[in-house]
Amino acid sequence: MTRTTPPRPLDLTAVFPELATMSRNVTRLHPRSGSPEVEDSSVGGPLLWPRDEPWPTCTRSHEVYEVVELEAVRAAHHATVARWSRPEDEPSTPEEQAIHDRSNPKKIDSPYTDPVPLLPVAQLYARDVPGLPAPDGADLLQILWCPFIDHEGDIPAIHVRWRRADEVTVRLSSAPEPTVIELEDYWPAPCVLHPEQVTEYPDLNQLPPAVGARVHAWQEETGHHYTEFAVAPGWKIGGWGVVSSDDRDRADPPRCECGALTEPLFTVGLSEWNGDNEGGWRPVEDADADDRRCYPPVGDPTRIDLGDEQLQIYRCPESHEHPPVIVRVYQTL
Ligand SMILES: [Zn+2]
Ligand SMILES: [Zn+2]
Repeated sequence: MTRTTPPRPLDLTAVFPELATMSRNVTRLHPRSGSPEVEDSSVGGPLLWPRDEPWPTCTRSHEVYEVVELEAVRAAHHATVARWSRPEDEPSTPEEQAIHDRSNPKKIDSPYTDPVPLLPVAQLYARDVPGLPAPDGADLLQILWCPFIDHEGDIPAIHVRWRRADEVTVRLSSAPEPTVIELEDYWPAPCVLHPEQVTEYPDLNQLPPAVGARVHAWQEETGHHYTEFAVAPGWKIGGWGVVSSDDRDRADPPRCECGALTEPLFTVGLSEWNGDNEGGWRPVEDADADDRRCYPPVGDPTRIDLGDEQLQIYRCPESHEHPPVIVRVYQTL
């Protein structure tokens, strides 16, 4: 099923004509709970990986003293999916309860220093994702992360891999996996994608100062929240990033090591449609879905929770060889 963002409830360019020249395409990925295969674009699905290419690992020290077993987290997720497929008043079975108990955090005595195979976060085939900014010849983007997010310096370990799908002649049949992860919140529940391209405008603090001042005045006058209309929530490719700063300060995207201003590549968003706010990002196909009566929730299908933070991967427009820049932004929307 496709997913369709409804017409904007408010046309920002009618209020601020200057925005027309600042529009950017963004591809909302619209992840939904599913069972993706290697040939599919996915969040939390298996990756198309050559058998002779080393699987990326994180070798940094992890200052955590509690971990959860990955297999138990996965089993608990599937048990919850099964539980919610039955009538609401039917209690969990003892087997389901035992599965949940196994996924509780376990204490460890010293920082976790074993090398950690990275977890697949997303795999995007260019054929599925309009506007995917692939390097020449590449048609597949793969993103993996270390499931211990809190490294020194607060920067997650992220691996971004572009490849040509037809160059993978002999596939890795079984990917290495970490036995334990920091939190169940860092394991992406498997989702299939329904990409859709829509228009975004700069976040408030990326507007030229004169426009930004008018937007502030408009917000105070009308009670509207500009960013809710301008920036698409959820998991997405491209568009405008949300840049952290005091609301009144102008903020640029991060710079690459080469000095160039980077551009948003991939965003691990919060909820897919910000609850009931006025931005109107909930797809028309999901208008009747009731998040309180299904698991995983339709608007939060990946179950990734980085504590009210978006994780953004920025790319250098000068060269695909330059390393991506990783940013975490606290967002209250
Ligand atoms: Zn790590
Ligand atoms: Zn660069």
